Amino acid sequence: MLVIEKMKLPGGNSALSGGLFAAANAPLQAADGIEDSPALMAEDMFKAGHGLNHPELVRTVAEGSLGAFLWCRDDLGVVFADSLHHGGGHSVPRIYSPANCSGSVILQAMLVKCRELGIPIRLQTAMKGFIQDAGGAVVGAEVIADYIFPREGSGSVRRIGAARGVVLATGGYCQDVEFRKVHDPGLGAALETTNHPGATAEGLVSALRIGATPVHLSWFQMGPWTSRDEEGWGVSTMFSVLVGLRHGVMIDACTGRRFVNELADRLSRSQEMVAAGRDPMLIVGGVAARQYPNLAQCLKRGAVKRYGTLEELARDQAIDSAALAATLEHYNRSLDEGVDEEFGRPLGTQERYRIEPPYHLVRLRPKLHYCNGGIQIDSGARVLDLGRHRPIPGLHAAGEVTGGVHGACRLGGVAIPECIVFGRIAGRNAAGL
Ligand SMILES: Cc1cc2nc3c(=O)[nH]c(=O)nc-3n(C[C@H](O)[C@H](O)[C@H](O)COP(=O)(O)OP(=O)(O)OC[C@H]3O[C@@H](n4cnc5c(N)ncnc54)[C@H](O)[C@@H]3O)c2cc1C
Repeated sequence: MLVIEKMKLPGGNSALSGGLFAAANAPLQAADGIEDSPALMAEDMFKAGHGLNHPELVRTVAEGSLGAFLWCRDDLGVVFADSLHHGGGHSVPRIYSPANCSGSVILQAMLVKCRELGIPIRLQTAMKGFIQDAGGAVVGAEVIADYIFPREGSGSVRRIGAARGVVLATGGYCQDVEFRKVHDPGLGAALETTNHPGATAEGLVSALRIGATPVHLSWFQMGPWTSRDEEGWGVSTMFSVLVGLRHGVMIDACTGRRFVNELADRLSRSQEMVAAGRDPMLIVGGVAARQYPNLAQCLKRGAVKRYGTLEELARDQAIDSAALAATLEHYNRSLDEGVDEEFGRPLGTQERYRIEPPYHLVRLRPKLHYCNGGIQIDSGARVLDLGRHRPIPGLHAAGEVTGGVHGACRLGGVAIPECIVFGRIAGRNAAGL
């Protein structure tokens, strides 16, 4: 077995990620008395995806999510925090977070496992196309060895044969400005993204060239929790995801008022944020903010700002202080009553913290985050041919390079389980196990 990677370091978006991991029927749910099932998780995914999701793929992810989580925790030894997160669009808390709030620990554990098993990872080796036999079966890949990303003409062409099959796992294409513009001309170079520089489309394009079926290529996801005060994903996004949106409110600084259910799916939230020229900000109280382990780093970088009083915050951010005070008072009252009549945000099962001083603020700006689309696979991770709707022999795929699982909108914490569920299926099937 051989893994190739075009960059100097392995990991891609997976290593950058927050490592949030949704698992239906997770052990902590039972301990907290939360009722869940793969069917409920699938229902949540369909609802967010506007029903465009491919049902058999959704079911495979939802049913496999717990096994994928247990594999990471028990076989790879990844340490997760001992509380569950209620992610936007999920009907119950079902999301684990690595103890250090970063997906890099999952990646590191996988690299250690590869070393133990003697699986080589050949870095700076870029896949340029597939090698097929006379019958069209994929029997290897043409690569550029000693490639220096993104330098055209660097390195030299080599051919690598595959004894049993090839698994394509080249990720999404949020960094590929030309390719993304073809599918959505609004996504020009000015739009920031959270993705690693190597998130480009050539792996996907190689599959399309040999007849793979494209799915939902023009559906992209904007992340509704990124900061305008730092580049890309930054350090504050996990603060906003884990404590800000759970215990705070999003307001429009132009009005001082809330404008959306802070725990809606990402599509609804980001659409509301860009609609009507809003100036979105997130405000959370001191007790909740202190729960985030990397708060000091966020404050130091200025991505999270702290204020002793509401007047100080309102003055600094040019917000109508009376309107803001009324918003927070109303929200705190909703918390006491357990019902958000304004936006229907779930205030239910888990502990909630009132928004009280010191106030913590993040100035938000949605950024391009995820490619919902990709190539079509079946539930065996086999890549399907466009004309015949049959598997292309010898080719499997998994992860963000594939499409159809999430439809119009991916729920938070579902990409990593999807990668692991289909990655393991692809590996097993490619090896003929
Ligand atoms: C900042 C950030 C945070 C996120 N947080 C979460 C989260 O908390 N939970 C969650 O579920 N999802 C999260 N996601 C989404 C999730 O991390 C990704 O969808 C997932 O990691 C994609 O995994 P992948 O293996 O498909 O692609 P990647 O992890 O991106 O790996 C693809 C690899 O292929 C390499 N490659 C590309 N083209 C070639 C080529 N031609 N030849 C050789 N190598 C190539 C790339 O360099 C890269 O290393 C996050 C995404 C980002 C960007």
